[in-house]
Amino acid sequence: MSQALESARPALTTLSEDELAFRDAVRTFAESEIKPLVSKMDEAAQIEPGLLPKLFEMGLMGVESPEQYGGTGGSFTMACLAVEELARVDGSISVLMDVQNTLVTNAFIRFGSAAIKEKYLTKLAREWVGAYCLSESTSGSDAFALKLRAEDKGDKWVLNGSKLWITNGKEASVFICFANINPSLGYKGITAFIVEKSFKGFTVGKKEDKLGIRASSTCELLFENCEVPKDNILGEVGKGYKIAIETLNEGRIGIGAQMVGIAQGAYEATRSYIKTREQFGKAIADFQGVQFQLAEMRVQLEAARLLVYNAARLKDAGLPFIEEAAIAKLYASRAAEKITSLAIDLYGGNGFTKEYPVEKFWRDAKIGQIYEGTSNMQLQTIAKMELV
Ligand SMILES: Cc1cc2nc3c(=O)[nH]c(=O)nc-3n(C[C@H](O)[C@H](O)[C@H](O)COP(=O)(O)OP(=O)(O)OC[C@H]3O[C@@H](n4cnc5c(N)ncnc54)[C@H](O)[C@@H]3O)c2cc1C
Repeated sequence: MSQALESARPALTTLSEDELAFRDAVRTFAESEIKPLVSKMDEAAQIEPGLLPKLFEMGLMGVESPEQYGGTGGSFTMACLAVEELARVDGSISVLMDVQNTLVTNAFIRFGSAAIKEKYLTKLAREWVGAYCLSESTSGSDAFALKLRAEDKGDKWVLNGSKLWITNGKEASVFICFANINPSLGYKGITAFIVEKSFKGFTVGKKEDKLGIRASSTCELLFENCEVPKDNILGEVGKGYKIAIETLNEGRIGIGAQMVGIAQGAYEATRSYIKTREQFGKAIADFQGVQFQLAEMRVQLEAARLLVYNAARLKDAGLPFIEEAAIAKLYASRAAEKITSLAIDLYGGNGFTKEYPVEKFWRDAKIGQIYEGTSNMQLQTIAKMELV
């Protein structure tokens, strides 16, 4: 039995007044500033550049970053609430903000030296988008089989190879790149390098044309004798695997929050639609069969949200959370796929068209079962923790 169940820890899911006020402010921002642009961004497969400064102004690009660096000084739970609220309107803006906060800023806060924090957290809170670069064409689930090679050239590091699937690739100014300094050491050679877009030998390559979260850029990165200053290492040489494991354990709670937000958006749209759509002389919401489908959506949404909030709370409280995070991401991403699919069913033919919002919610939900560890990888983590 898991540690959580053995100790019968209560679920830590209640939101404080401050958290509710923060969530409401993000909801208002998303409704007024993002919603009018969602279809256009999805069609153009591009984030409206004018939105980025607004995300910084709202303090959403450095939620956990300390105020001394220009950050909001909030909690991990607050970052998740913002991810959820943005996803309720648009999954793409949500993942841009999620990666910035739960992976990039989080890694700098936890593993950066004083000088690195001063330099990069300040920029990340105010003007720079960040990217987190682990995956390659031949290493996805088996992430530590990565082939990006870093060589010590005395006064600098030189990186050669490529990365694939990098969220925020187009918008980012700084990239946390995992490379191996000595493949014979295996995962113990993996090191986290801080690469700026302007560094010699670094280029952002092809952008993927995707099913969902289409406006979020997902790019290939190319390193051709890319020169990185000697000090641009996050944490210690050879300890990159630890940074990757620990940040992804936390980051997947953010993906759970994104899935809850997408499901919430689809749920609310459906609840309104079924009250106005008439068949057989009355609103389809009057049919018990339809009511039961809506109730089914609501139950799954509630369960997913409680799992995500509980994992975020455990992390903020400094309690063990790895298994709860994997459960939350696994369940929330499955629930989001189910809920958004039911939403299309209840919209009938309209749900299958781009005139209505639910087909996009469904497309955006699918990624939750793939990135930051596929569902099989979450099951593996859960099983491992149960069998220790
Ligand atoms: C839109 C998008 C954005 C992304 N953003 C980023 C990013 O910002 N940074 C980054 O580093 N990466 C990013 N990724 C990469 C993402 O994390 C990987 O796609 C994911 O980890 C899966 O790896 P893979 O695609 O190579 O699939 P594979 O690892 O090839 O998996 C294929 C299938 O095999 C299964 N499988 C593999 N191994 C096992 C096993 N041992 N047991 C059981 N089943 C197994 C998987 O569960 C999956 O179903 C992104 C991907 C996408 C699509």
